[in-house]
Amino acid sequence: MVSCSDIKAWLIKLAEIFKENKDYLTELDSAIGDADHGINLNRGFSAVKADLESKEYVSVKDLLKSEAMLLIKTIGGASGPLLGTCFLQMSRAAVSENEIDSKEITQLFKAGLEGIKTRGHAVEGEKTMIDTWSPAVKAMENALTDGKSLEDILKKGAEAAEEGMKSTIDMLATKGRASYLGERSIGHLDPGASSSYMMIKAASE
Ligand code: ADP
Ligand code: MG
Repeated sequence: MVSCSDIKAWLIKLAEIFKENKDYLTELDSAIGDADHGINLNRGFSAVKADLESKEYVSVKDLLKSEAMLLIKTIGGASGPLLGTCFLQMSRAAVSENEIDSKEITQLFKAGLEGIKTRGHAVEGEKTMIDTWSPAVKAMENALTDGKSLEDILKKGAEAAEEGMKSTIDMLATKGRASYLGERSIGHLDPGASSSYMMIKAASE
């Protein structure tokens, strides 16, 4: 079972991860974008961390909704509305107040992915964060069907997320800023796919 405080711990951990990886993600974005992805995420998740440390949330739904709104306000760029919508859809999918089981966690991630797709009108293979989220959700659904434990479901998700992230290197970007580069976008890791891998990996840990 995942509790409200586990979700809180996950988001605070993400603030630390994006602080540490601010320069790395910005460097990835300097190759095929405008060199701000790490800065954007660090700004957004620092605000989330500050909010979580100053307020008390008792339901997963309320917590995810508040942080989604804050992410939309603070991240900026293309990734702000995309990740904000992701968390907003996770919040909408949350049913249990506090004790979330394997099935519901898988549904939350699936809802998050659908949020990103709806907001950005992108599909798999366009060199975006979707290429990390989509295989991760598929792997989680398969692990759930196989009756795996929550820990294993998240582990499978993280493994598939890593593969998905790496698969963006050879892709041609057809959405977002990187698409302006055309063929020159090939050969680079997508920054959003990389930060999304960090998010899913942190969830598994
Ligand atoms: P911006 O591109 O506005 O500078 P960021 O640098 O914060 O915003 O985020 C860039 C990332 O956003 C990309 O690496 C990509 O993964 C993701 N992205 C961009 N457009 C889309 C889209 N339409 N759908 C999904 N993800 C997208
Ligand atoms: Mg950028």
